[in-house]
Amino acid sequence: MALRAVAEVNLAAIERNAARLCARIGAHVRLCAVVKADGYGHGAVPSARAALRGGAVELAVATAAEAGELRRAGLSEPILVLGAISAEELPDAVMAGAELTVWDPAFVSTLRSQARARQTRIGVHVKLDSGLGRLGTRDARQALELVREVVASPELHLSGVMTHLATADGDLVFASQQLDLFDTFEAEARALASTDITAHAANSAATLRLDRSHFDMVRAGIALYGGDPMNRDPADHQLEPALTLRTYVAALKPIAVGESTGYGRRFISQRESVIATIPIGYGDGLVRALANNCDVLIGGRRYPLCGMVSMDNITVDVGPEPPLRVGDPVTLIGVDGAERQTAEDLAQRIGTISYEAFCLISKRVPRLHHRDGVPVDGAHGG
Ligand SMILES: *Cc1c(COP(=O)(O)O)cnc(C)c1O
Repeated sequence: MALRAVAEVNLAAIERNAARLCARIGAHVRLCAVVKADGYGHGAVPSARAALRGGAVELAVATAAEAGELRRAGLSEPILVLGAISAEELPDAVMAGAELTVWDPAFVSTLRSQARARQTRIGVHVKLDSGLGRLGTRDARQALELVREVVASPELHLSGVMTHLATADGDLVFASQQLDLFDTFEAEARALASTDITAHAANSAATLRLDRSHFDMVRAGIALYGGDPMNRDPADHQLEPALTLRTYVAALKPIAVGESTGYGRRFISQRESVIATIPIGYGDGLVRALANNCDVLIGGRRYPLCGMVSMDNITVDVGPEPPLRVGDPVTLIGVDGAERQTAEDLAQRIGTISYEAFCLISKRVPRLHHRDGVPVDGAHGG
């Protein structure tokens, strides 16, 4: 019988998505695979390897620890840490030989002494906040000042300049205004730099929708995994979902009119029917907001989740004479016969995006990596 609940991750799909993005951006633009948050829940190391096989040439993560994980697995490509780095994390980031995102003069001074102490050279990307209002400096003059300082520091290497878009999945007018600011900054930074630098701005949505955002490199995350950055249907952009979330029918039993299932009696049956109990719950990342608000696929059919989501189980009304047996596979995310349920479908039910739906899948759910059905060792990614 199947494992209790598993996330099967098709690395060949990630590879093909990477290749599709490479075809989209053209030979003169590089693909940086964003594998933060354990590769959006798909497994950072195998996902990184698959993306590299598909044509990515750089990797990006959010934290120093994530950079360390990739290095320990033997990945030698450039790794960019996109997030802020605390003083405590800095040694790990430097030891991993990661490139760092900078926008603050005090941090740049810290980096210089850190590089001296460790007798190494740290690659940095100066970040302009062109409108996302999160990390980076809003002040283009300050950003240029930092570029100057980095160029003049023998301990540092100016690897690139960057910005991040707020609305690439929506309002392209605002995104274009951001890019106007970045255009100017990028040209001025390039003039100051003594070596070639990498300018980058695009996330997945911008990669797909906004050619002028591509510059020298795009940073794609969700699209690699076959998620739709617009939270609709990945097929709209020929993206192939890599992750399937499956479990199985653990029990089947009749329910009479007026009987209920689950905590709080949130489902009371209006008919004679059969309830399937499925061993997956919020402890696995299936949030309680999906109570009475989700479908599951069994035997190529769609059935409604009924009642509360508990930590370890859900219940499904499978109708009076279900063509099912205990042990049958159940699909939460994926394809079953002619039926399909995407991470975007689940996310829309609860007012979120597929990014979060993927990240919610908890550690209790093993990730089984395969290439088009052929199992591979997750640690090595085939
Ligand atoms: C996460 C992240 C990305 C990737 O975004 P997607 O929408 O998943 O492609 C790109 N750039 C930065 C700075 C990020 O934090």
